[in-house]
Amino acid sequence: MVHKGDASNAAVRALLTLVGERHDLAVFGTPPGELRDKKLKQRLAAEFNNQCVYCETHLSGKLEVDHVIPMNQKSLGLHMYGNLVPACSECNRAKKSKSLGEFLEKHKIRNSTQLKNKIEARARKFGVTEPSDALKGLVANLYLDVGSLVVQQAESILKTLPEPSTATKAEAKKIQKKSDYDFSEISKKFPIGSWVNAVKDDLVGEVVDYSLEGPIGKRTPYVKFIVLDAGAKVRRAPSQLNPIKSPHRAK
Ligand SMILES: [Zn+2]
Repeated sequence: MVHKGDASNAAVRALLTLVGERHDLAVFGTPPGELRDKKLKQRLAAEFNNQCVYCETHLSGKLEVDHVIPMNQKSLGLHMYGNLVPACSECNRAKKSKSLGEFLEKHKIRNSTQLKNKIEARARKFGVTEPSDALKGLVANLYLDVGSLVVQQAESILKTLPEPSTATKAEAKKIQKKSDYDFSEISKKFPIGSWVNAVKDDLVGEVVDYSLEGPIGKRTPYVKFIVLDAGAKVRRAPSQLNPIKSPHRAK
């Protein structure tokens, strides 16, 4: 299920890619295409003897590109050559959004201190720096703006779509499983992308999905939402939720 955060993350990654590629254009003088996809992998393979930088596995054709500083909203790693290293799929998957230090420690990579110094020295050599305050501010705003914009626009497009006809609904019923629950009423009260407040524990979050749970014959519908700030996905029965206008709690 797509939610606001997906659009925001995509926008942040696009920004970090653009900034990184423009930076590399100034450093290497090569057009961005030369530092993308296959050509990027060839360049990294040549520099690192076609080995995973972390475990030294030989990478014959299985080279994956890892961002040393993760390219996400939290770490703000740029997609620039100095921040890119070749990795095997195991190491790449294990590192994911961890920082270099965190990954090396957790996965008991040998000579980790030495390796960390080596990778960081290489990054500095190619111009990788700590994220600036300007970049931090920009990304934080972009994250919020894009998410809201995408949801707003999805809602306005939805209003232009015709109401499903009785015939359309009848067709849809045919392919529905017997166990399926009709969430159309619940989705009217708690639309995807809207905000809810859980009555009992006072959680506030953005609706992202619905589910049907419990033993067969006693299944009950739930609304799933992502808790504001905490990021955890939780579910509540519709009777325990109130729709709210904005995520800022009413005083
Ligand atoms: Zn590896």
